[in-house]
Amino acid sequence: MSSHKFQTEVNQLLHLIIHSLYSHKEIFLRELISNAADALEKLKYLTLTDDAFKSFPFDPRIDISFDKNSNILTVADTGIGMNETDLVENLGTIASSGTRKFLEQITGDQKKDSGLIGQFGVGFYSSFMVADRIEVITRKAGEDKAYRWASDGKGEYQIEEASRDGAGTTITLHLNENGAEYASRWQIEDIVKKYSNHIMFPIFLHYEDTTYEGEGDKKKEKKENKVSQINQASALWKRSKSELKEEDYHGFYKTLSHDTEAPMLYTHTQAEGAMEYTTLFYVPAKAPFDLYYRDYRAGVKLYVKRVFITDDDRELMPTYLRFVRGIIDSEDLPLNVSREMLQKNRILEKIKSASVKKILEELKKLAEDTERYAAFWKEYSRPMKEGLYMDFENREALLDLMRFKSTKADGFVSLAEYKDRMQTDQKAIYYITGEREANLRNSPLLEMYRDKDVEVLIMDDEIDEVILPQVGRYKDIELKSVNRSDAAEDLKSEGDKKAEKEVEPLVKRIKQVLGDRVKDVKASTRLSSSPSCIVADEKDPTVQMQGLLKAMGNADISSVKPILEINPAHDIVVRLKDVSDEAVFADISSLLYEQAMLIEGVKLENPGQFVERLNRVVAKAL
Ligand code: ADP
Repeated sequence: MSSHKFQTEVNQLLHLIIHSLYSHKEIFLRELISNAADALEKLKYLTLTDDAFKSFPFDPRIDISFDKNSNILTVADTGIGMNETDLVENLGTIASSGTRKFLEQITGDQKKDSGLIGQFGVGFYSSFMVADRIEVITRKAGEDKAYRWASDGKGEYQIEEASRDGAGTTITLHLNENGAEYASRWQIEDIVKKYSNHIMFPIFLHYEDTTYEGEGDKKKEKKENKVSQINQASALWKRSKSELKEEDYHGFYKTLSHDTEAPMLYTHTQAEGAMEYTTLFYVPAKAPFDLYYRDYRAGVKLYVKRVFITDDDRELMPTYLRFVRGIIDSEDLPLNVSREMLQKNRILEKIKSASVKKILEELKKLAEDTERYAAFWKEYSRPMKEGLYMDFENREALLDLMRFKSTKADGFVSLAEYKDRMQTDQKAIYYITGEREANLRNSPLLEMYRDKDVEVLIMDDEIDEVILPQVGRYKDIELKSVNRSDAAEDLKSEGDKKAEKEVEPLVKRIKQVLGDRVKDVKASTRLSSSPSCIVADEKDPTVQMQGLLKAMGNADISSVKPILEINPAHDIVVRLKDVSDEAVFADISSLLYEQAMLIEGVKLENPGQFVERLNRVVAKAL
């Protein structure tokens, strides 16, 4: 017998599970059954694709038994099994990097958020919530030796040789006082129906049935050992849509995703004809915790003719739809498809493309219900926006699914709504980008639009800044950022243009003072109550974009300068024309530039100088 220590992370995970999942302790059984089903799927796959296993005796099943008197619960499967190395790697360490990340990520309060932990699937170790000792007897398919792994979950485990008839794994839990209630026929049936009804292999429960014979004094107790199948064990997605109810779909979703909440939406497609396949997709009510991890878990499983092929192929969905959960089952792919084959497989590409269209259609339907769509948008606006620059083919559909804040509405508006209420001579859809909604709503850049009653979309999500310029148009209408110099041009009258011309000499003087702090100085009638504002030149990144680029380590943007626009009608500008004292003129010109930067949310390069200037001007005025 050999003794081993758990990897540190395993101890952490054990601790976390025991302290945070406690109110959901019944999920241990779901986890054991789900591992057993995986092991069966792996062996089934080998018997179908690997010559060495073609004649392997395979009777796929999961057997659960219990003994109330000795507080024992056993889950056995006839799956792939494990050898000694597998045992050390699988039950002594945490193999999945996603799990490790998750552990690092959650701290403090989050530890109490068992919903999150439940969703992520805690696996085998959750059994230590209900057992003070666990024994695993396992034999790998195709190998002779069997092993016993045993542990009390307190830092160490032991492995020794053992014996087992046939391949598979038997897990025996020595239930503690918190787990004793699970040595019960009704408890087990309940939990299996709740979480594992749609596992594709039969789950048998072994129990002792007591009946009574005779009457009165002669009444005799008769005990009989019985076995009955307690799950449905069929591929739900293959059943006809008309016989399935919402609760069936929701039940299957819970088996599939380990989510305890019902999904926001589901869509089931059974395609026949040139290509035969079935898809069943779900959008979870809450965004998966790993939505923004680089190594997020794939949400869609691939089956071929109901045989499980893979659950970790991220290519099955475009990245932006990584929150979708579900299955794809193809009748046309060969069973022994390799990973490489999957990557550029034409059949799969077609299924994928039809699936994306289908999901977007469903979202469009969802959008008809403003309230439900708002809930969707709250969880998934980011990934959906990513779709705009990744999925050119579906850009129109995606654009219709976008929602933005607006100067003309409190909630969110769609581009279609904006278009419907555009002014007759309006040439573009205008938007403003920047950091905080409140700042943007008060930006001087909006003054002209407010005066002319033109709607402007408020884009305060940093991703907007990256995506909108790439999109360019919505149904032939140009999308224009009001943060750019030329966006105001279409709204200007001849009078405006004349007023701008008149202050050109002043503009030249200011430009001389500001030197290379700005790319240019222009007169602009887009302002009404503010004296100045900052805009970006047509091809340059805006100041917010520059912040993003800097954060991403992009070094050569220091040469990008803003354009300063001044308001010819503003009091300060009108009087500045007559200032002959060069020092005062320089101070005020600089203040026009600095206040415009501040209002855009940009940090001044030299706040000290700004304050000195401000004080000089204030002192003069007093
Ligand atoms: P997960 O299932 O998320 O990978 P677990 O901790 O539940 O994490 O299990 C770790 C690993 O142990 C599994 O990935 C699998 O390789 C192995 N394993 C667990 N249960 C069984 C089983 N019944 N048969 C074969 N292998 C198993």
